[in-house]
Amino acid sequence: MDYKVTVVGAGNVGATTAQRIAEAELADVVMVDVLADLATGKALDMMEAAPVLGFNARISGGGDYAPTAGSDVCVVTSGLARKPGMSRDDLLNKNTEIIREVTSQLVKYSPDTIIIMVTNPLDAMCEVARRVSGFPRQRIFGMAGVLDAARMRWFIADALNVSVEDVDAFVLGGHGDTMVPLPRYATVNGIPLPQLLAADTIEAINTRTRNGGIEIVNYYKQGSAYYAPSAAVFDMVAAILHDKKKILPCAVYLQGEYGLHDLFVGVPAVLGRKGMEKVVELDLSAEEKAALQKSAEAVHELVHALPSF
Ligand code: NAD
Repeated sequence: MDYKVTVVGAGNVGATTAQRIAEAELADVVMVDVLADLATGKALDMMEAAPVLGFNARISGGGDYAPTAGSDVCVVTSGLARKPGMSRDDLLNKNTEIIREVTSQLVKYSPDTIIIMVTNPLDAMCEVARRVSGFPRQRIFGMAGVLDAARMRWFIADALNVSVEDVDAFVLGGHGDTMVPLPRYATVNGIPLPQLLAADTIEAINTRTRNGGIEIVNYYKQGSAYYAPSAAVFDMVAAILHDKKKILPCAVYLQGEYGLHDLFVGVPAVLGRKGMEKVVELDLSAEEKAALQKSAEAVHELVHALPSF
């Protein structure tokens, strides 16, 4: 393949992302995991599907970073999930440690790569990777908004019984329960959503979108969503490698846009071969601005709680 993508973490999100990228022949994929055999085994398992499905991308896996050298894009999904008895700060400290180590390895072997962060708490882990890598914001950003918007799009399509292909929606803000769904900017084949659904139905969709992650966790009991998250990562990687200039909501390091400074917050951005090429500023109502501000404050609190390094 013309491109190489590294996926760190061969767990649910990482392995499914690798599979989607390889099956679409978007790039060759290198999976790295601290559980080296898990990454090696999953890569081999996927390659053994290649003759049946007929894809020519190569997938390899292990615990070593040397094979990641020269990656065009690196997707970071490595991390711990919060376990019973673990405080939010414990999780923040553990995942900070993991993201520090992973980022320094990635940068060592692929100094010109583009990093897409997936590990939670998302906005704070983006900040850890930014500090460690020293990358400009064009080359380090996070996946959250594409997933949150995809959930909202599905709920709208389901409520109206229309094709998902016709539904567009945006979700701004941090990746947590303060995220800001924007029904005013949601459309169904160009028709604004408020013309198609009653206000209380829209509000119910907003609430379900905000709780989309936990809804899946409650069903899975162990682990969290990965089919939709990996699809969202795939969309971002494809937009970058194919230089699509697609506008996608991403966690971007804001430098004055939306009145926010030096903070990763979910906003619409143009993704192309250079990475995050432009932040798109939407005209927000006073209410939407206040909700975004509140969400940014939640991210700020999290970043403030990061261990110093
Ligand atoms: P998972 O537990 O299935 O996989 C995580 C993998 O990371 C494991 O295989 C583990 O061995 C590996 N790992 C741990 N430490 C490592 C290290 N130092 N180096 C390399 N690999 C290491 O979890 P998952 O379901 O794949 O989720 C991964 C992360 O993505 C979690 O933090 C989760 O919360 C997050 N997530 C984010 C979004 C989003 O919208 N941003 C969506 C879904 C999941």
